Amino acid sequence: MEKNQVTILGARGSIPVSGNGYKTYGGATSCVLLEAAGEAVLFDAGSGLLNLPQHVRKEYKRIHIFLSHFHLDHLMGIPMSQMMYNPAAELIFYAEDGEQIPEVFRQMMAEPLWPVGPDSFRAKQSFRSIGMSPVALNGAADAGEQSLTVTAAPVTHPGGAIAFRADWGTHSMVYATDCDPDEGTGRSLERFAADTDLFILDAQYTDEEYEKCRGFGHPSMRTSAQIIAASGAGQGLLFHHSPSHTDAQLGTFEQRLQQYRKNISFAREGEIIAL
Ligand SMILES: [Zn+2]
Ligand SMILES: [Zn+2]
Repeated sequence: MEKNQVTILGARGSIPVSGNGYKTYGGATSCVLLEAAGEAVLFDAGSGLLNLPQHVRKEYKRIHIFLSHFHLDHLMGIPMSQMMYNPAAELIFYAEDGEQIPEVFRQMMAEPLWPVGPDSFRAKQSFRSIGMSPVALNGAADAGEQSLTVTAAPVTHPGGAIAFRADWGTHSMVYATDCDPDEGTGRSLERFAADTDLFILDAQYTDEEYEKCRGFGHPSMRTSAQIIAASGAGQGLLFHHSPSHTDAQLGTFEQRLQQYRKNISFAREGEIIAL
């Protein structure tokens, strides 16, 4: 059986950035690939989705794509993604309300915002809703592989958003971006991610920025690190970096953090975590 792994395809928040100050942690927006139990799973479809072809280990017949919410930085990879134009691909999209997804694609690619609409996509697509009961991604037909399930949980973010937990064999991970745990969901996030192998969590702001940006739906790095530590997760990755934070700044934040939390780091684009 192949090893299971997570690849960070994009870790930036809000809008893509590029240039010399963004080489270590990367500039592409939210997209995380999980390859486990023979399946390919994507969490969000930000501009990091364009990194998929160079990082995916093999050509999967089907890909499961879980969308935390419909803010543009989590969807902007869709119109230019190769997988959307591959007639052999089967793409299964999940969101809190799956029926909304085709309409969101239409709006995002409507004239005069984009030259072609979603009618130009060639992949076979289906759209499903996900809630708090686990969804099994591989059935009995996939004998020889472990079962892989994904569960969602609501988080606090303007317009709503959901976090995801994937479980396979004895392993698990949580992807929770775009959430402000200070607004009341911190404890439930800790429970949701309890004892996972990997906990990826929004950490967009410094303490100072958080005070200025209350209501935007993102936490401070300090809060996120505390939640990861309290969850008992084996490894924590701070995610959805502010577009204004350069490699030098994130490096300094990381050094300070690791003086007392060695198992938490800032997610780097291209980083692979074996699980
Ligand atoms: Zn975002
Ligand atoms: Zn958002």
